[in-house]
Amino acid sequence: MRTLILGGTGEARQLAHIASGERGFDIVSSLAGRVRDPLLPEGEVRIGGFGGAAGLREWLAANGIESVVDATHPFAATITANAAAAARDAGVPLLHLRRPGWSEGPGDRWIRVPDSAAAARALPELGERVFLTIGRQGVGAFAGLARQWFLIRAIDPPETELPPRHEVLLARGPFTVEEESRLLASRRIDVLVTKDSGGDRTEAKLAAARAAHLPVVVIDRPPLPLGAEFVETVADAWEWLRARASGVR
Ligand code: NAP
Repeated sequence: MRTLILGGTGEARQLAHIASGERGFDIVSSLAGRVRDPLLPEGEVRIGGFGGAAGLREWLAANGIESVVDATHPFAATITANAAAAARDAGVPLLHLRRPGWSEGPGDRWIRVPDSAAAARALPELGERVFLTIGRQGVGAFAGLARQWFLIRAIDPPETELPPRHEVLLARGPFTVEEESRLLASRRIDVLVTKDSGGDRTEAKLAAARAAHLPVVVIDRPPLPLGAEFVETVADAWEWLRARASGVR
């Protein structure tokens, strides 16, 4: 069964790794090409946009794709919507693999907000030294905050306008709680801003913030398309693929 995995996450790489080793599966993974030096999944990989939902639909047909797994990041809402539209129009089964979000535990002080702009509005109440860990996209929403100082962590340098007082730290997780605690202390951070990305690669910052009694502004996920079929684990996505493959053969 020829399957397109829309990737850019650890889960997408794990699924490609499992399926590539199995007879009867022909996997192609797709990356957007955002990161300069991406972690590549096993097997065939294509890089770059498809040209919207219509481009993706054409690509599915031209490449004989029989199933699609959207294993993109929970905040990659445009490609997720495009995948839903393209798969529906092409009559190809689609599954969204979406890891669970994080949840607040004892000792946490979280402020949930709907988007980056709301996170920026919440900050003046919360502190002056901000650790911004939302990747490089969305950082522009904080550009107008002149009173705060920002530690901006991203894999590649942000290309949008940045707040006037900042330090950019280029790093790719996973990070340990000890490393995150050291960072919070060395930069005298008052407040952390994160997306509700979920997963264990970048969750150490939440434990470090809890230990330091710091407030955390958590940006909520965009919703999945209406009626979308989704699972939360790689194992469940693999089960789905196997079931589709036995139907296809
Ligand atoms: P997005 O806003 O949902 O998508 C914007 C456009 O980028 C899409 O319309 C599509 O272009 C292209 N695109 C996105 N993902 C693609 C993929 N896997 N393969 C081919 N084209 C893709 O996406 P994003 O938030 O910029 O994320 C881009 C990539 O980074 C995704 O693969 C995602 O899994 C990964 N990522 C995102 C985040 C995040 O916080 N957003 C974090 C970690 C990793 P066309 O319309 O031309 O097809």
